[in-house]
Amino acid sequence: MKIAVSSMSKDLNSMLDVRFGRCNYFVIYDTEEGLVKTIENKGQMSGGGAGIAAAQQIIDEDVDVVITGNMGLNAFNLFKNSDIKVYRCGSIKVETAVQLFKEGKLEELTQAGPAHAGMGMGTGRRFRGEGRLNIAILSGKGGTGKTTISTNLSVITGANYIDCDVEEPNGFIFLKPSQIKREEVKVDYPVVDSSRCTLCGECAKVCQFNALVKTKKDIMLFEKLCHGCHACGIVCKQSALTFGKRIIGTIEEGQYGNLICKRGILNVGEPMAVPVIRRLLKNLPTGTNLIDCAPGTSCNVVSSLQYADGAILVTEPSSFGLHDLKMAVQLVRSFNLPFGVVINKHNTEDDRIQTYCEKENIEILGVIPYRREAAEVYSSGKMIVELPEYKEIFEEIAERLREVFPWNLQ
Ligand code: SF4
Ligand code: SF4
Repeated sequence: MKIAVSSMSKDLNSMLDVRFGRCNYFVIYDTEEGLVKTIENKGQMSGGGAGIAAAQQIIDEDVDVVITGNMGLNAFNLFKNSDIKVYRCGSIKVETAVQLFKEGKLEELTQAGPAHAGMGMGTGRRFRGEGRLNIAILSGKGGTGKTTISTNLSVITGANYIDCDVEEPNGFIFLKPSQIKREEVKVDYPVVDSSRCTLCGECAKVCQFNALVKTKKDIMLFEKLCHGCHACGIVCKQSALTFGKRIIGTIEEGQYGNLICKRGILNVGEPMAVPVIRRLLKNLPTGTNLIDCAPGTSCNVVSSLQYADGAILVTEPSSFGLHDLKMAVQLVRSFNLPFGVVINKHNTEDDRIQTYCEKENIEILGVIPYRREAAEVYSSGKMIVELPEYKEIFEEIAERLREVFPWNLQ
């Protein structure tokens, strides 16, 4: 049996690339011969039809099974017609993905679409059609006023507010929700039973986060590096690993009028925000949710976008603002999400953002002026829509959202 895995580089130790059509390589593993072949994906450079070009290559290689994260409809149908089965997997080592497949632990893809959480350690799912519309609000850089836009837009549109900036969740300062409920976020970590462990070192080899190290005497765990993926437990043939749990953060939920407000809080000193973000987003309220993402374009933002149906990019008219907006645009485009831009702190004749958006055919949803009175209201922890001029601007942005996206914002 020949298994093709979408990959970031050329061998079994590479990381699986969750993009099928745009991955760099396919690593092809022959289970009978034990041979590994790598082919460069011709689809990655295609202007269009990347999935089709990639699928054609795989079909020509006489492959039986494909393991990847996301797959579009065209490629999926080509494989269906060629009796090639497709399995979902998250971003883990190619070798581990093949192992999980052999053990029957990967989920077969039965329709085109993105990866989701499961045995393959997929990384997200979309809620479109499940009574939820999730709109991510992000900015390429910090300090653009992303939280101001998110909280004020929640109040104006009646959408729930979800604070995913778990390292600095400050939206509750403005919304001041009541009836707060709290839930701890825990992650798994391996515990070694030294009476069973033969010090073979396989667990340390498979850990892509270097959380396990084999010494001459034992297996050492650096628990803050552990992502709780369980790969070490899967490869341990002595059943010497069990899993404990440790607390890394908290989810809070409260009410602001009829709105549900949720936020994740990462404990001080914890390096991994993603498990807190995922826990927060896996259990969203029904209705429209505005997701206030972390600043920048890091994996914290990527984790949030995996749950989004569309995006609002907040920027400011400055060189840094434009530079980081371009990165944010690149990111949301890679997710194929509909999006528009809000220009905040606009107090000059500087039109570099408008010029860029026009050139890139990006919709500008609104322009928010920079005024001293707004800064005073903001710095006293109040909503700027308390000012009539700003209330009107946010109502216009809400109106633009309804026009630009087919969303039923209340
Ligand atoms: S894989 Fe199992 S037996 Fe091998 S070193 Fe790790 S815990 Fe010990
Ligand atoms: S569970 Fe933790 S220690 Fe084990 S492989 Fe995954 S990240 Fe490494």
